[in-house]
Amino acid sequence: MEKTQARNIGIDVKMPATVCIGDRNCPFHGERVVRGRSLVGKVVSVKTKRNAIMEIERRVPLLKYERFEKRRTRIMVHNPECINAKEGDVVKVMETRKISKMKTFVIVEKQ
Ligand SMILES: [Zn+2]
Repeated sequence: MEKTQARNIGIDVKMPATVCIGDRNCPFHGERVVRGRSLVGKVVSVKTKRNAIMEIERRVPLLKYERFEKRRTRIMVHNPECINAKEGDVVKVMETRKISKMKTFVIVEKQ
């Protein structure tokens, strides 16, 4: 396959408009294979290149009070240059083989 072309990663997401070069961990232009869980959340911090911290909010039912409680989880995700998510973006991430100590997910789409 040609290097400049984006690969079909097997899930229904829109292809990034730009091409990243030299990022082996990009699912579209690198060798990264995505599988497993997919999650949607908000990017809360982009401090370093190709990394982002994302927050996922979920609701937990409290049976006694018949209400829901909000709980938040923060995970570090890989932010490929072709997607280049910024703080405040809502993104879809996909699970992948461990990229580093903290990263197991990679951003596949901005929403
Ligand atoms: Zn890319």
